[in-house]
Amino acid sequence: MKRVYNFSAGPAILPEEVLKEAQKEMLDYEDSGMSVMEMSHRSAMYQKIIDDAEKDLRTLMHIPDNYKVLFLQGGATTQFSMIPMNLMKHGVADYIITGAWAKKAYQEAKKFGNAKAIASSEDKMFSYIPDVKHLNISDDADYVYMVDNNTIYGTKFYELPDTKGKVLINDASSCILSEPVDVSKYGVIFAGAQKNIGPAGTVIVIIREDLIRKDIKTDTPIMLRYDIHAENGSMYNTPPTYGIYICGKVFKWLLNLGGLEAIHKINLDKANLLYDYLDQSKLFFGTVEKKSRSLMNVCFKTDSEELDSLFIKEAKQKGFDNLKGHRSTGGMRASIYNAMPTEGVKALVEFMEQFEQKHKK
Ligand SMILES: *Cc1c(COP(=O)(O)O)cnc(C)c1O
Repeated sequence: MKRVYNFSAGPAILPEEVLKEAQKEMLDYEDSGMSVMEMSHRSAMYQKIIDDAEKDLRTLMHIPDNYKVLFLQGGATTQFSMIPMNLMKHGVADYIITGAWAKKAYQEAKKFGNAKAIASSEDKMFSYIPDVKHLNISDDADYVYMVDNNTIYGTKFYELPDTKGKVLINDASSCILSEPVDVSKYGVIFAGAQKNIGPAGTVIVIIREDLIRKDIKTDTPIMLRYDIHAENGSMYNTPPTYGIYICGKVFKWLLNLGGLEAIHKINLDKANLLYDYLDQSKLFFGTVEKKSRSLMNVCFKTDSEELDSLFIKEAKQKGFDNLKGHRSTGGMRASIYNAMPTEGVKALVEFMEQFEQKHKK
């Protein structure tokens, strides 16, 4: 067996320790004689798995008691509908458009009310974060919506938008658990699991209790109501049981590493290794504004598409997989989520140096 360094943007690399533990427990979880996949979600044994996962996530993120943690399904994209359906009380919401995911969420929200794009970086291919200190917040906005880390273009917010007191909603799919966070600054933080946590399909929603309304439109599909999921401890129907179990293991892995402060240090080191190399390279260059650089998704190019393709091909042969940039940007993208070991990034930089030696002008 040979594992590659997997730089995929998502579904993405998971900690090897977690996979090995899951392998060990696959056929017989804690003397139950069955796999977690085969277990009733109503059993005491499964209840402990989901309770522990929630407890560990609360510890990691210091989630205040007045927030609910929900384990839902349908990926992050289902939240693009649930947010406006549940939170648009006055029918107005402000969106900060920093990439394709923000744009999709904004377009979906328009179905449910007056969604406004109050800032955008689309003029420069989403290569920067717009000014968020002086936003034109709508007086009657029910919330302001942001996407913390831009998975496709490789930018991130380094300061929170001034929402003038309005509730802030954060799609943190590609950066959740990568650094410490003050949950109390947000109304909702949500994240699809497949980038920094676990298997695709599972989505984590951290929502302030007073935002969970019962007085929403009565024809809202039951599975799209936060109140129903909150009242039923994420078990109105069968939750993504195995996905939640793996998420729980990743939370424990992070706690053992020393929590979010510790992983943040590691993530900064990894990102700096790559960005420092890119900044002095004569062949490769980073594609986004320096002060908006993502710690999770590092986008870069050479000035030749042929050379980009050759690099991606040769890298794959050497065991550096999934370095091809998103189809909308071209070039390369190295996704270096929590589970990517520092050695993986060091090895990639060494390979880039060798490639540069061969191809420099
Ligand atoms: C990947 C991603 C999504 C979409 O997630 P799905 O689980 O495929 O719905 C949404 N937002 C961001 C920021 C992402 O990176």
